[in-house]
Amino acid sequence: MEKPAICGGTPACATPVQYGRQYIDEADIRAVTDVMKSDFLTCGPQIPALEKKFCEVTGAKYAVAVSNGTAALHIACIAAGIGPGDEAITTPITFAASANCISYCGGTPVFADIDPETYNIDPAAIEACITPKTKAVIPVHFTGQSVSCDEIAAICKKHGLLMIQDAAHAVGTRYKGQPIGSLGDMTCFSSHPVKTVTSGEGGIVTTNDETLYKKLLLARSHGITRDRSLMSAPSDDPWYYEMISLGYNYRLTDMQAALLSSQLEKLPAFSRRRKEIVSRYNEAFRDMEGIIVQKEIPESDTVRHLYILQLDTDILTCSRRQFFDAMDAENIHCQVHYIPVYRLPYYQNLGYPKGLCPNAERLYERILSIPLYYSLADKQVEEVILAVRKICAYYRR
Ligand SMILES: *Cc1c(COP(=O)(O)O)cnc(C)c1O
Repeated sequence: MEKPAICGGTPACATPVQYGRQYIDEADIRAVTDVMKSDFLTCGPQIPALEKKFCEVTGAKYAVAVSNGTAALHIACIAAGIGPGDEAITTPITFAASANCISYCGGTPVFADIDPETYNIDPAAIEACITPKTKAVIPVHFTGQSVSCDEIAAICKKHGLLMIQDAAHAVGTRYKGQPIGSLGDMTCFSSHPVKTVTSGEGGIVTTNDETLYKKLLLARSHGITRDRSLMSAPSDDPWYYEMISLGYNYRLTDMQAALLSSQLEKLPAFSRRRKEIVSRYNEAFRDMEGIIVQKEIPESDTVRHLYILQLDTDILTCSRRQFFDAMDAENIHCQVHYIPVYRLPYYQNLGYPKGLCPNAERLYERILSIPLYYSLADKQVEEVILAVRKICAYYRR
């Protein structure tokens, strides 16, 4: 079949839309410029202020702000004690960072397949991947929908594993009424501009465990401490500190912390709008021939970061690439989340076989992410729906 420039008529969207974008208002700008005129650009008062606010939002006891979500995952793996010879289990349908953080520590990522309907890691598949070397499970709340936290926590408890949640997509989501960030051993967030709240670059780890909290603080800043209780030779010298482990410089700046604090003020509004758009999309796509919508579990009160269309290849004659290009011709720039991580050349070269996670590979062939962000107007939402309807009609068997 020839590739149509457009499936008839004029483009559904008059001006191009992307799959995601940040929303910055005057209050955000003022928060940043105020810090720039202050005494501290980094290591200042904005960091504890942000961490306190993030604890309020998530219900966690401790929060550690870092330079990005990948750093958050890395220090969580360090705090979990992952090292050479250890394995940690994650999902293949995620951004590479969810697995890379294990590799940074010298550990081995093990990929457990997804549930083909929710697209989240399947607890039964996790259990099947456990070996005596397994140290942690890193489930990802994919698209923002919570994983089955209780089932995964029970597996972790049974086998003595830590649960590190990758909640880069899931700020604002609740599982059985509890905010993501308050459950499990550690939870990692990202504030990259496509995520629900942003600081340009940024990340946060939450935990309720004081021992893990202290390890996270060390890993964030060179392994250096001024906490006397951790020192091998405490001193009264005012300049004295000790470096007691090998850490990194993963600190967030005060400008970024102020921006993220200001963004968190808008999280309720951001969440409401994302839920509105998702429910309109669900209503439009649920019965549209050629489209399969992501299954929602009742335990998750979801603030969606991504909205994914799965193409029903029994009904549509086009490839995902043709559908993607047809959306582009309608001025709607989609994205694909994600290429299964172990299919990326770096992991292929380490010997992960093709076909390792069949559900993930099958899903990857059939999905694309359509626009979902706070400032997407009702009119644009309807244009996206119109475009999908047009393309489905054009390519229907
Ligand atoms: C964005 C993202 C990350 C990494 O966050 P950065 O802030 O970009 O480093 C990790 N995991 C998932 C699932 C993500 O979407």
